[in-house]
Amino acid sequence: MAELTELKKKLAMSSRMLFNSGLVDYSGHISVRIPGSDHLLILPHPVSRATVKPDDMVVTDFEGKVIEGKYKAPSEVYMHARAYKARNDIQSVAHLHNHMVATLSMVDKPFYPASSNPGAFFGPGALPKYMDPALIHTIEQGDAVAKALGKADALMLRGHGSMVVAQSIEWVFAACVDLEEAASRFYKAALLGPVLVYNEDETQRVMKGRRKDSVVQKVWDHNVAKTKLVGLMDGI
Ligand SMILES: [Zn+2]
Repeated sequence: MAELTELKKKLAMSSRMLFNSGLVDYSGHISVRIPGSDHLLILPHPVSRATVKPDDMVVTDFEGKVIEGKYKAPSEVYMHARAYKARNDIQSVAHLHNHMVATLSMVDKPFYPASSNPGAFFGPGALPKYMDPALIHTIEQGDAVAKALGKADALMLRGHGSMVVAQSIEWVFAACVDLEEAASRFYKAALLGPVLVYNEDETQRVMKGRRKDSVVQKVWDHNVAKTKLVGLMDGI
């Protein structure tokens, strides 16, 4: 139970940090697998992402059905539930309507790794893209999103946003920050001319320096401090 309490707290913290970073507004959500079960914890549908509390979290199964909680699950819970069902290695999932990734998703042009710090949480190769622009409101759509994700760490959702997966809430949070900044840089660079995208060897080498617990913890700690400074961690 202590573990569950800690996971709920981290979900609430990460939601407020994503809000404070401009990565979620009134929608978007982050979830975590409940270890050793076929259940997940996720942000509730109606509560502000800026003020959500640990006890507001909802438990659902991998069919998206609410098992426990005083609120409804988000309408796009299927994106999370089916990713956990499809991949045992995923412990946490975020879905963002993030501005820069959504913008790049609207163009018929691949989004490649081309930025090291931030930006090295993804690759090698272009970020996969899920082409159906409809919101994810069914198990079948959730399965189609999981299929488009494949073994990748993130997925662009055409005209919609992104989905990010990783081995913990902290890793997903850091990857969300990295992805949006990488997209912002890629967009600006593309305005100036052809982007010097990283080849596989370059991507692997920059990932090695960036994708580690110490970097993830640094991103997390900085954002905890930044979010406390503006008073958005009150009540946690
Ligand atoms: Zn969405």
